[in-house]
Amino acid sequence: MCGIFGIYAPERDVARITHFGLVALQHRGQESAGIAVSDEGHLMVLRDMGLVAQAFTEEKLRGLGGQAAIGHTRYSTTGATMWTNAQPSVQHGAGRAVAIAHNGNLTNAAELRGELVASGARLTSTSDTEVLAALIARAEEPLEEAVTHAMERSEGGYSIVLLADGKLVGFRDPDGIRPLALGRLEDDWLLASESCAFDLLGAELVREVAPGEVVVVDDSGLRSIQALPPKGGAAGCIFEFIYFARPDSVLSGIELYGARVRMGEQLAEEAPVDADLVVPIPDSGTPAAIGFARRSGIPYGEGLIKSRYVGRTFIQPDQAMREHGIRTKFNALDEVTGKRVVVVDDSIVRGTTTRKIVAMLFDAGAAEVHVRISSPPIVSPCFYGVDMATEEELIASTRSVGEICARLGATSLAYLSLEGLQHATQRPAREFCRACLTGDYPTRVPHEAQLAKLRFERDVISASR
Ligand code: SF4
Repeated sequence: MCGIFGIYAPERDVARITHFGLVALQHRGQESAGIAVSDEGHLMVLRDMGLVAQAFTEEKLRGLGGQAAIGHTRYSTTGATMWTNAQPSVQHGAGRAVAIAHNGNLTNAAELRGELVASGARLTSTSDTEVLAALIARAEEPLEEAVTHAMERSEGGYSIVLLADGKLVGFRDPDGIRPLALGRLEDDWLLASESCAFDLLGAELVREVAPGEVVVVDDSGLRSIQALPPKGGAAGCIFEFIYFARPDSVLSGIELYGARVRMGEQLAEEAPVDADLVVPIPDSGTPAAIGFARRSGIPYGEGLIKSRYVGRTFIQPDQAMREHGIRTKFNALDEVTGKRVVVVDDSIVRGTTTRKIVAMLFDAGAAEVHVRISSPPIVSPCFYGVDMATEEELIASTRSVGEICARLGATSLAYLSLEGLQHATQRPAREFCRACLTGDYPTRVPHEAQLAKLRFERDVISASR
């Protein structure tokens, strides 16, 4: 996923505002955090591993003065978890210096990187973001044209904020797969992955950046360029509605909390069950569990307690960390003892968390554990910036619902239908990418892109040997 943020506000403490923006976007990436500022056109970047609070101190923030800033919270999809892959990434080229923060995944990054290296570019990280930065930094043409040409060369899903030539620039891929919103803090312009970052700052959501649009902010205000025609409308990631984005964020005019409650209500209609208690897998399953309880009439209660101090399991970078994360994250309450429990979550990716939670509820004395999932089965990997990695890792890619239920050790299992999900979003299907649920990708997914997240990195390393 990754969280990105940008501000152009010569009269304000742009680094501090960016820091708070990143705090609001922390859920989108916990591996590293970084801020870049532009001061009279000169770029300065600070980035470090860990959470925003770990990466920045008061002293570090005080040293970051400027008129514009961008920030990033990272979750790795291309390139391993390492400092050199932390963002913002900076590139110096014949055209300009560029600091860039990226949410998404370029499916043709290896090809572009090969061309850049062959033409003399010095690339130091294994991240596709550096490839984009290099394309723009090396171009000896006005910034807007350099950005447009880089977009024309890039395939996949991307939302970008960058600083160059003393300007703040934001743009989105022509399918609009990854989110990017435009906000306003009095007279100043902001960009963020999600509107919740504006709320925290007392800023207002103006609109979403359109697919294929470039917005440029400088001393003369904001300019919009439709650099690439949007491809057939839009293909916003439906998983932002299901899970990724914070429930208090607004996407396509819809507050996600309400959409998730409706998913739970719809699920109760589609997959009713005789039970005593509806419990969420906190926090991701909470709105849908509330909706399920409301529609079914079964009491809602807490059956699992989540430690507030352990990161999201799905976002951790490898399986070993995920396993460890789950054990330290949840505990069951006596509340479930002797009861027929409906446990609600938003999705099942690998099944690791759900299997352990089912066992935990039975260990705590639950008589039955009925698993209800407020999205359809995930059957195909994501190539647009979400770490679903390989098809083999997805529990539903080759198994029936009955087989998955047996694997989870649950009394019963049911998923929300695709139609039910769509209905709950209150937006038409044509506005969404639903590829991981249907296998129908909105962009060309080249054969080489059918790979695990480190494949790009392996190519880079073997090329340099
Ligand atoms: Fe989102 Fe799934 Fe599309 Fe990836 S494939 S962008 S997770 S809807």
